[in-house]
Amino acid sequence: MDMGRVCIDHQRIHLENFSPFLQCHKCLQFGHMKTRCTSQESFCSHCASNEHQISDCPVKNNPNTAKCHNCHSHNTQFNAKADIKHPANSDSCPRLHAMRDRIANRVDYGSA
Ligand SMILES: [Zn+2]
Ligand SMILES: [Zn+2]
Ligand SMILES: [Zn+2]
Repeated sequence: MDMGRVCIDHQRIHLENFSPFLQCHKCLQFGHMKTRCTSQESFCSHCASNEHQISDCPVKNNPNTAKCHNCHSHNTQFNAKADIKHPANSDSCPRLHAMRDRIANRVDYGSA
């Protein structure tokens, strides 16, 4: 039991090292930064438009226009119906939660 608690505490420390964990501001994918981005496309993190970025988003102040690029492409890919009415960098994004879980599960104390 004590071992388990120690591991969880370690995970929390590791997760904080990832925080805010990497999300590309250009393509909105996780795990790399804009400067390392190899994507040809960029998307608005607010409304998922590929014609502008968040800094030029004409509707970024209107929460009703939020559309998550990651959830939208997940829905398209897996024929899912996840809620997409949130910005791609929203804390309520289920893709972000999935990524957070994946990072937590990947934490390895021996070989990291
Ligand atoms: Zn990128
Ligand atoms: Zn936009
Ligand atoms: Zn989302």
